[in-house]
Amino acid sequence: MLRSLGAEAREVRTAEQLKSLGGLIIPGGESTTFGRLIEDFRLQEPLSAFVRSGAPVWGTCAGMIMLARHASDLPFPTLQAIDIEVDRNAYGRQVDSFEADIDVPAIGSEPYHAVFIRAPVVASVGPGVEVLARCRKDDTSPETPVAVRQGVIMATSFHPELTSDTRFHRYFLDIVASAGRPSSAK
Ligand code: GLN
Repeated sequence: MLRSLGAEAREVRTAEQLKSLGGLIIPGGESTTFGRLIEDFRLQEPLSAFVRSGAPVWGTCAGMIMLARHASDLPFPTLQAIDIEVDRNAYGRQVDSFEADIDVPAIGSEPYHAVFIRAPVVASVGPGVEVLARCRKDDTSPETPVAVRQGVIMATSFHPELTSDTRFHRYFLDIVASAGRPSSAK
């Protein structure tokens, strides 16, 4: 999706590959596995340094968990890059995954179709965090933030790569461009 928008994109597995990136996306998956691999590959400090350097980072679903200041029930440290607390798997089990049309004024007036797969629930956001979108799973659930941003750090609890709507990717590339790092994606 990034390439379709004209950006140069590459996969990152080592600290070396973090160098000269304009921005980083931490995708969905399983945060406990991420935590273990980050430990095994000694990526905690390089990733923290990347965040400290002011580089834009976008975390989706498990990636959001990794960026949070605190995540429930995660036996690994998070990167504490954005002032939110998340409850892992609080929407329920895999069968409780759901899709919803959400309003995201920052990317346009058309509703955005969001796919939630065993997503984390954002339990609290700090004062410096901008809530880009909120959603309720069903009529009995409370409305909670599902897309948040603090400076150049963005986190979404859904999977924006699973539809053909590129507006979130465009939004992130705009953050990368405005961060003006030496080798940002074009
Ligand atoms: N439930 C997963 C976790 O806790 C996240 C799922 C996902 O990224 N789709 O890490």
